[in-house]
Amino acid sequence: MRLRNIPGSREAIAASSWCIQEPEEAKGGWKGIFGNENPIHIEIGMGKGQFLMRLAKANPHINYVGIEKYSSVLLRALQKMEESPIENIRFIRMDAEDLCQVFGEGEVSRIYLNFSDPWPKDRHAKRRLTSRQFFSRYQAILDRGGAVEFKTDNAGLFDFSLEEVGAAGWKLDGFTRDLHHDAAMGKGNVMTEYEERFSAMGNPIHKLIASR
Ligand code: SAM
Repeated sequence: MRLRNIPGSREAIAASSWCIQEPEEAKGGWKGIFGNENPIHIEIGMGKGQFLMRLAKANPHINYVGIEKYSSVLLRALQKMEESPIENIRFIRMDAEDLCQVFGEGEVSRIYLNFSDPWPKDRHAKRRLTSRQFFSRYQAILDRGGAVEFKTDNAGLFDFSLEEVGAAGWKLDGFTRDLHHDAAMGKGNVMTEYEERFSAMGNPIHKLIASR
């Protein structure tokens, strides 16, 4: 993602009631933040939030938390929420490495990873959101029936991710290398911003679902 530092983005995030300002304090108490007992689904690396907002509108009985590392990117999602608020969404500006400080054991029911950064150098493999190191963080916060859903157009990252699912001791519930031509895996698919861009260029979209 092309990143520009947008002046005032940190201040806007600090002032936004859609953003959880001290997420560590929410650990174990996310249902209280939403004020209901609905399940919590998170997207890590949500970008400008198109996917999360579409999901949240379609599923008012699920609470969504969008996680994004960069203020300038998150600001775009906040601006959309100001124009058209969605009650079952909150955002956190943070690096996903700190996930276990923010969500308690079994507090999350589903994790979405969409078009995650590939970190192509081998020495950076553990930074990939589908590395075994990240699967162990996901294991700590997911509930019993919890699952991870991952989409990408990057075949190399996808192959790596398939291997990491096994190496982490997880099971593969399904996968496809051409989501938009796979009736079963593509059913109900919600497009992300990157997915729209890359599929318009003719790139096949890969998807896997993994659970513990
Ligand atoms: N998911 C969106 C989509 O599919 O349109 C955006 C994809 S963009 C390529 C990846 C996003 O993940 C960027 O906004 C980036 O800042 C964010 N990101 C990457 N690593 C992250 C991390 N460790 N924690 C939180 N966000 C991260």
